[in-house]
Amino acid sequence: MEESECLIERTFITTNMAIPLPDHDHCKFCGDAVPFDMAYCKEECYWNDQTRMKKEKNDNIRFAVLTIVSVVVIAIIGILI
Ligand SMILES: [Zn+2]
Repeated sequence: MEESECLIERTFITTNMAIPLPDHDHCKFCGDAVPFDMAYCKEECYWNDQTRMKKEKNDNIRFAVLTIVSVVVIAIIGILI
């Protein structure tokens, strides 16, 4: 009982004593801390993010095409039956 109270107190103190970081932003790709005027922490993250965005765009186009094809197929089946 006493030991758990001590642990809670220690946790509370530790949380309140967190070292304040200077104002910063986070890398758009990996989330590392970066200065406010930078979007990425390194060039590799920039290129990785470009690749990820291209892939997401292609996935969205593929999904839209698949949706349109599905609607057309269902409409044709509906007309034929
Ligand atoms: Zn990064």
